[in-house]
Amino acid sequence: MSMLYSRPSSTVLNYYGAYYCPVCRHGEIATLPLMEAFSCNFCRHIFTANIDKQAITIVDSQLPLTWYWTGKRWQNIRSVKTFQWGYRFLALGFLLLPTLIVATGAYLFPVLPDSPLAWFPWFWVGLTFICHLSCLLWLVLEYYQFPLSLYFEALMNNILSRLSLSND
Ligand SMILES: [Zn+2]
Repeated sequence: MSMLYSRPSSTVLNYYGAYYCPVCRHGEIATLPLMEAFSCNFCRHIFTANIDKQAITIVDSQLPLTWYWTGKRWQNIRSVKTFQWGYRFLALGFLLLPTLIVATGAYLFPVLPDSPLAWFPWFWVGLTFICHLSCLLWLVLEYYQFPLSLYFEALMNNILSRLSLSND
């Protein structure tokens, strides 16, 4: 059952406050009765708190993710520094340079247009681009520690529980 009351989120992390959930960013986390642990009313993940460090760590997940409470929002340990221009430039180079090299090769040494594999060099160019792009996206997700799978899991569980409620 969802909790109907809503306590204002406190500027300091304590066991009496309620805060939005850092995993689903939709539910509200509040302490479980008689326990020093927080639980979300939407995705039902459990967190332990470190009041001294103003941090919570998810316990029912294989990823030991930790977030700090800034007074207004949760901050991931590693997203303190956002991507700077140097990184963006490097990322762009990582993405475009190999693609350009492969494309130059395909342009300078064209396959005979009648040959059955004439499409191949340009297919290879596209593949190079996609491979490097997916590497980059994976790195960004890792960097920000965005719990993508946990988020979708929470969303699915909520939809399923709503469906089973409406069938009653
Ligand atoms: Zn949640």
